[in-house]
Amino acid sequence: MVFTYHPKLVERMVNETPRTIVGLIALSVIFLFIFKDHVPNGLLIVWAILQSIFIYLRYYNAKSLSSYIEQENSEKTRLHVKAFFGIMIYSAFVWNIGAFVGVFYAAAPYEFISFVLIMGLITAGAMSLASILYGYIVYFLLMLLPQLFLFSQYSDTTHQAVLLLAIVFVPSIIMLAKSINRNLVSHIEDHEALAGSVGELHKRSITDGLTEVYNRRHFFETAERMIDLSRREEKTVSLLMLDIDHFKMLNDTYGHQAGDTVLVDLAQEIQGMTRSSDTFARIGGEEFALLLYGVSIDDARVVAQNICNTIEEHAFTYNEIMLDITLSIGVAEIGKGIDTLDALHHEADKKLYDAKRCGRNCIC
Ligand code: GH3
Ligand code: MG
Ligand code: MG
Repeated sequence: MVFTYHPKLVERMVNETPRTIVGLIALSVIFLFIFKDHVPNGLLIVWAILQSIFIYLRYYNAKSLSSYIEQENSEKTRLHVKAFFGIMIYSAFVWNIGAFVGVFYAAAPYEFISFVLIMGLITAGAMSLASILYGYIVYFLLMLLPQLFLFSQYSDTTHQAVLLLAIVFVPSIIMLAKSINRNLVSHIEDHEALAGSVGELHKRSITDGLTEVYNRRHFFETAERMIDLSRREEKTVSLLMLDIDHFKMLNDTYGHQAGDTVLVDLAQEIQGMTRSSDTFARIGGEEFALLLYGVSIDDARVVAQNICNTIEEHAFTYNEIMLDITLSIGVAEIGKGIDTLDALHHEADKKLYDAKRCGRNCIC
């Protein structure tokens, strides 16, 4: 659980990495500059190498995390969050080595310099690392506890006072990191809830409430775009207008509820027969439209006949009563004299009327 963080929290830590690295380089240079006349150069070089290794690991870890978050690879993300914990433990180790070496070689009051640097690092860390809360707390304690131990070895009042101050500081910083973390989490949750509501509202705005296929408005907007695209891509577009036969009689005989059940069943059945490039919608009471992108009128007629046959053979039932349902379909294609959606719609409607006149359950 400790290593499982919301990708947005991990992302925030990753985004803070360049700034953290710049801050660390600056503090390391200050540290080296202050201790250069006290600590043997060889030791300072070793320390600088250890610090460079940390900076490289932190950079590599952030880079990997960034790409695994983008790929939504949660397994690898978790693994690299674990590695991040390890890298922070290593960092605390390097800083404390520096502090202890400094105390060993430099006379008092140089222990205050390392202490102040470490306090500065963990305070700044509360801001930049709070998103990975447990990682930060581990880092915070590993940075501070050796310092508290060091200061407890001095018996004078100044060291004792600083030790007391540092102890008082512990809960405040942990509480600060927790509160930053809570704010981040609630911000992410609010954002996700809002995105979910917007998605749901959008879905509702383009869907027919009863049948759950696209609604009239979405159909005409999409069809308009498809026809524009077909001009650019020099493709053809066909339109099927579908109308259930004698639907009023069905309602009058079995009730409105039976009619609704048929509408849902029929819409889902036809939807299941469409391809991703098709747009199918309920555009009126018992009227549907199907736009076929890149399909000629001959192929569209085959599709229409297929739908007609499927609906005729489909076992529609309401309260265990078998209902005979048939469709009439008008088919039209963009072409000579039909170059707008209005014209295409008008032509397909005319053909639908012809199909009704020809006795229904047929295509024209
Ligand atoms: P035709 O074969 O000529 O198409 O005849 P029809 O009865 O299907 O056509 P008409 O236009 O006369 O009647 C359509 C009926 O569809 C009338 C209306 O009550 C019904 N209807 C429209 N919307 C709904 C709906 O959402 N649910 C139900 N159950 N019926 C609906
Ligand atoms: Mg009808
Ligand atoms: Mg009708």
